[in-house]
Amino acid sequence: MGNTLEEHIKRTRQLLECGEVAMVIGYERGSVENRRRATFVKEVSELERMVLDGLCCENLANYLVREELLRSFDGKKVAIFLTTAGVRSVNILAAEGQINPDCVIILGFEAEKPGELDSAIKMLDGEHVDHYADSIQQLKSRGFVNDRAQVIVKLEMMSAEERFAFWREQFSRCVKCYACRQVCPMCYCRRCIVDCNQPQWINASAHDLGNLEWNLVRAFHLAGRCVGCGNCEQACPAGIPLMLLNQRMAQEVLKEFNHFAGESSTQLPVLADFKKDDPETFIL
Ligand code: SF4
Ligand code: SF4
Repeated sequence: MGNTLEEHIKRTRQLLECGEVAMVIGYERGSVENRRRATFVKEVSELERMVLDGLCCENLANYLVREELLRSFDGKKVAIFLTTAGVRSVNILAAEGQINPDCVIILGFEAEKPGELDSAIKMLDGEHVDHYADSIQQLKSRGFVNDRAQVIVKLEMMSAEERFAFWREQFSRCVKCYACRQVCPMCYCRRCIVDCNQPQWINASAHDLGNLEWNLVRAFHLAGRCVGCGNCEQACPAGIPLMLLNQRMAQEVLKEFNHFAGESSTQLPVLADFKKDDPETFIL
């Protein structure tokens, strides 16, 4: 039995009143109809602008690593509305040494039909990442059963040349705005490889080769770390189906390494870890 929304709001009020948290990160109405955006509440009087409905789809964990926000926490905790994908992001950020999970109070929720205004909202119990271990395991055992998986099967049935042509066409629309990176909770590097120009590893221009390099480098950087929140695809102004690539990588990592990103706050990154008895078939 989950908490009710009223209990979450009451808890939020309590946390602010007793000064346990410096801020509550939640949602408010956006400037465009039927859009929601992040809101940062520091006073009880500001609570009334918060909303929680099926349009609240953004993974807010992204804001936990924003330097300008972190400075304002002043050693206090932060409370944040998160779905299970968001909790998985907190686990990864903790495992990678970016945040202390004990300083994050989770106000968990799931929309029955994400993206639909009148979707039912289920509140989740648990304020610490560890309380979500069972629900994350359930997600892992369910695997990737969704509409996207059907599209991935179709892409898999193409020849390598056809698949390459498909992705080349998709990436040709990329305008190198880097919105996908800015909204991704897992893209917290203070200086991204694409912003370096000495040496310049990736061409900054939005042309075919540079676009392919950028999107493939990003896909590999996220392999085993992407939690499938969809922030990137939602933000992409070119409508590139980034989640197809993210999910395909996640499926591969689960199959080959039994690794599901963000299972716990101590999970080692799958592509940065090894076992002494790992097969070494790639070494000639
Ligand atoms: S790559 Fe996209 S889906 Fe994956 S964690 Fe980042 S924003 Fe979310
Ligand atoms: S958000 Fe879309 S257009 Fe912008 S850099 Fe990412 S893939 Fe390219």
